[in-house]
Amino acid sequence: MTGWTKAKFESFIKGALRKGTTRWPPKYEVLNAAKRGKQINKESGRLAEHYHCAQCDGVFPAKLVVVDHIEPVVPVTGFVSWDDVISRMFCSADGLQVLCKNCHSIKTKAENAQRREHKKSK
Ligand SMILES: [Zn+2]
Repeated sequence: MTGWTKAKFESFIKGALRKGTTRWPPKYEVLNAAKRGKQINKESGRLAEHYHCAQCDGVFPAKLVVVDHIEPVVPVTGFVSWDDVISRMFCSADGLQVLCKNCHSIKTKAENAQRREHKKSK
């Protein structure tokens, strides 16, 4: 094929699928539900919509929040199949939550640690 490793190819496909979620309606359902109204953005000094973080209860401008998959797109126990990845990636609104970037990075780190633990135990 391209000379890419399997891992590189998999992360390429995951990235392409993730891009597709920018047009996935449940993502906007969840974002809209997290809206807490316009407030002054502390950084820019401008009035901007703020969103509620499901983890820390804080409110943040759009730039500082992400729509997170409550269940990771690739399970911590490892890749199952592309069908599984696709159904997890394009899940309904109740499988998604708005997190601030800080909470999201903590969650991602915890999931990655679980992945490493799982690999070790294999
Ligand atoms: Zn948070």
